[in-house]
Amino acid sequence: MSDATTTPLTGQVAIVTGGARGIGREIALVFAQAGADVALFDVNPELLEQTAQELRALGRRAEGLSVDVTDGKQVEDGVAKVLDKLGRIDILINNAGITKDGLLIRMDDAQWDRVLAINLKGTFLCTRAVAKHMLKARRGRIVSIASIVGLIGNPGQANYAASKAGIIGLTKAVAKELARRGITCNAIAPGFIKTEMTEALPEQARQRLLEAIPMGTLGEPLDVARAALFLVSDAARYITGHVLVVDGGLAM
Ligand code: NAP
Repeated sequence: MSDATTTPLTGQVAIVTGGARGIGREIALVFAQAGADVALFDVNPELLEQTAQELRALGRRAEGLSVDVTDGKQVEDGVAKVLDKLGRIDILINNAGITKDGLLIRMDDAQWDRVLAINLKGTFLCTRAVAKHMLKARRGRIVSIASIVGLIGNPGQANYAASKAGIIGLTKAVAKELARRGITCNAIAPGFIKTEMTEALPEQARQRLLEAIPMGTLGEPLDVARAALFLVSDAARYITGHVLVVDGGLAM
């Protein structure tokens, strides 16, 4: 196989937010295996360094940067550091996200504000900061991790569903704004993926969920990472404003 097949991202630089663990870490590893240098924006310094080491062990340059995506100044400084240390930005993966679940009438303002701040405003701040550089380069790939919950809703997750539906609207607006400048902007809507976020599910809820998923199993972080690799690759050059569902058939 040629290098273009095995390492299609050679020479490219990717930023992955929330990249220290979970789905973000897997995306970073898959991109590094595909030849990319990777910068991680996350809030846990030890895990950041641990994941950055794993990326370097694959022979790539990697930076683990302490960036809280809700803070515009930290995001701008983080992007400047990536340009300084890695020289360019080809790919942004907006993956940092949290849940703070509760039924609507018991959901307090802080639960709403925090989830919207990280999941939606963080995606906006990172996209805006990176788009400036991609516009100059007239090339770029932006992929944001939404959720099927943003498409079909979920009881107890009004805040999370709103944030993920917001990401889908943001993705389509930005895709239309940037399409003529060689920049694509897409979203991935995962179903239920095996990470610390879903480990907290009670056993009964897990069993009900497995019965509802046509493929009968939770997804792996690798399933999402491979979808992200497709969307940033040349194979997806004519795809923008799309929401790629990775859910074993759950939201059909
Ligand atoms: P995860 O294991 O909790 O990882 C999320 C990462 O984001 C953590 O490293 C976390 O740091 C980091 N983070 C949190 N707040 C941040 C902030 N303000 N700035 C920068 N980084 C921050 O979650 P995951 O399951 O991999 O999920 C990744 C994305 O996929 C999320 O957007 C999630 O909504 C989405 N998703 C997940 C599933 C699923 O089934 N797991 C399904 C659909 C969509 P800490 O370690 O400090 O918390």
